[in-house]
Amino acid sequence: MNSELRKDFPILSRKIYDKYPLVYLDNAATTQKPRQVVEAMTEEYYNVNANVHRGVHFLSQQATDLHEASRETVRRFLNARSTREIVFTRGTTESINLVASCFGQAMMKEGDEVILTEMEHHSNIVSWQLLQARQGIRIRVIPITDDGELRLDEYERLFNDRTRIVSVTQVSNVLGTVNPVKEIVRIAHEHGVPVLVDGAQSTPHFRVDVQDMDCDFFAFSGHKIYGPTGIGVLYGKEEWLDRIPPYMGGGEMIKTVSFDHTTFNDLPYKFEAGTPDYIASTGLARAIDYVDSIGMDAIEAHEKDLTRYAMERLSEIPDMHIYGPRTLEHRDAVISFQVGQIHHLDMGTLLDRLGIAVRTGHHCAEPLMRRLGIEGTCRASFALYNTREEVDALVAAIQRVQQMF
Ligand code: PLP
Repeated sequence: MNSELRKDFPILSRKIYDKYPLVYLDNAATTQKPRQVVEAMTEEYYNVNANVHRGVHFLSQQATDLHEASRETVRRFLNARSTREIVFTRGTTESINLVASCFGQAMMKEGDEVILTEMEHHSNIVSWQLLQARQGIRIRVIPITDDGELRLDEYERLFNDRTRIVSVTQVSNVLGTVNPVKEIVRIAHEHGVPVLVDGAQSTPHFRVDVQDMDCDFFAFSGHKIYGPTGIGVLYGKEEWLDRIPPYMGGGEMIKTVSFDHTTFNDLPYKFEAGTPDYIASTGLARAIDYVDSIGMDAIEAHEKDLTRYAMERLSEIPDMHIYGPRTLEHRDAVISFQVGQIHHLDMGTLLDRLGIAVRTGHHCAEPLMRRLGIEGTCRASFALYNTREEVDALVAAIQRVQQMF
């Protein structure tokens, strides 16, 4: 990867504790933002800002055009059939909650079942538990192997005549496991069951094609793919979005309102109550343009190389335990590890003191931690701007921490 592009990310030249060059390896939590994204948002605030979809005046129309052009950029990025299938939300969490709530309300009764996996982020567990509390649905869980891969044989056995939806992550934010979502969707569809795919950890790293995957819903967050916080996307097949009720009521999502009867707007606006974050949608579109300008395949190849290199180098460290799949084929740019008896929090804190940002803890996946029999891990996760030198810095810093213990 061209080292010049690191210059697009001003934050990467910061010094930590006025001493160490920042080594930012917490990209699965959020990525840094290139100038192109921040400048486009600033430019819109300075020169275009007006509420969208409502005004006849020049600025409002320009802001609306930008917002709708961003929707088209997202449509292209996911290869959705139509912009009617692209709903702007606040992020993956809101997208999943929308499906659990609206699909649940329309399509699920007491005793009906959702299938999740043992490696889900809390957002894809608790949303369904809220529905469980409201409507008495049941949650079934696909177990994983000790290497952190899904047990597809067990998955097939979970289907019965009460199964209504499957909701799975495409990539585990802890183990880096890349799940065979196409196969998962195929099996679900054989049972006439739709599938929601959580793309929070896949969209930043490799090409996603919702038509090829044939998933029914797909969620992702802008901030994990070099875009701003506070914006994300729910893709839904039109046939499903038409069948489920709105999530929230308010402006934008209606056609007519009276105290007796309200009619809802067309897709996707039916799901977009209130003023949307039209500045953030511009930021997300510029982030997608940025990724496109480098090329998703080039990003994937670079990150695979980094992950391979990091797995090799980390494995040289005595007492190192790496969680998740051994084979790179099934693994994305996320490495969770534990070194001997050193508590992950101590490791993370000391690495930070050496200028290295990693994440520690349960990573919003407590059920997975329980399955692994641990409280937490240290997690290093890579983005397009990371380098082999930064992996070397991580390895050297871990060795230094080891010496302290
Ligand atoms: N799903 C996965 C797999 C994640 O890794 C995350 C965030 O880390 C989320 C969902 C939630 O994303 P957000 O907080 O952007 O809504």
